[in-house]
Amino acid sequence: MHPGPESPILLSMQSVAVFWDRDNTLIRDPGYISDPAQVELLPGAAEALKRLSAAGFENVIVTNQSGIARGLFDEATLERIHDRMVALFAEQGARIDAIYFCPYLAGEEAVVEKYRQDSELRKPKPGMILQAALERKIDLAGSWMIGDSLHDAQAGHAAGCRTVLVRRPGSTESPRKGGDVDFVADSVEEAAEIVLKYTRRAGGDPGGAEQASPGMQTEAGRREESARAGGSESANDAAVILQEILAFLRTVDKRTRAEEFSLGKLVGSILQMGAIAALTWALFGWLRGELMPSEELVRLQLATLLQLMALTCFSFSPKK
Ligand SMILES: [Mg+2]
Repeated sequence: MHPGPESPILLSMQSVAVFWDRDNTLIRDPGYISDPAQVELLPGAAEALKRLSAAGFENVIVTNQSGIARGLFDEATLERIHDRMVALFAEQGARIDAIYFCPYLAGEEAVVEKYRQDSELRKPKPGMILQAALERKIDLAGSWMIGDSLHDAQAGHAAGCRTVLVRRPGSTESPRKGGDVDFVADSVEEAAEIVLKYTRRAGGDPGGAEQASPGMQTEAGRREESARAGGSESANDAAVILQEILAFLRTVDKRTRAEEFSLGKLVGSILQMGAIAALTWALFGWLRGELMPSEELVRLQLATLLQLMALTCFSFSPKK
């Protein structure tokens, strides 16, 4: 059964992460930042990062940077921009654990041929999140995506994470809860609150979801849990694979639920109604005593046939 977005979920011994959008979520977006001097942290961002780090989450930025494909800046410049951003956050005691970016863009606006391509990394596709999960052994089902764009939520959900959409001044979106958006927040602090509220650690108090989960995935804690679980790298790898399967199944489950209304069920329901009608028709004739036994038998056979066809349709329909 797929847990609803408000169901607290158990965390495994794997790392958990909050995947962050960069522009207009953590730093101001003047439109294609191309100089480190343009980096300006948004209010509340450092505090949100600190709270989530303290709770054991990795802070991982996943950002589309089509400015590279558009020829506005190069990868070396982007690295300097990110160095500056990380330094500014560090000054406030906040930590960014990793940054993933997509430099690609399809179409004629991409003037740098090397980067002119459709890419699985580019949000709303989940490539950056999946890559980070593989490289950093992140449990996607226990992780979150926070951003100001619907594309952020779509990427997060496609990767099997839960999502918070932050209403930011200047966003083109009019965010609503539903679909790929599990929660809507008016600030990054509120987004962090939501993450902490709906997360609890394995073995914790089942009613303790409200209590954030402080220190739930410290490095020492992870080592201890790993040791309890056998401590071997292979056990760790097996757990990673299991978590990825779980995240995949959650995604499949969502798709299945979306496809619950199937043609097979519709036809099956119509046949079922036909079978009931045929049975009623046979009983009605029998009660009035106006039927020959052979006619009655034909009507009962018709009802049986329709019922069998309905059951056949149901059996080929997707199950819940
Ligand atoms: Mg953004």
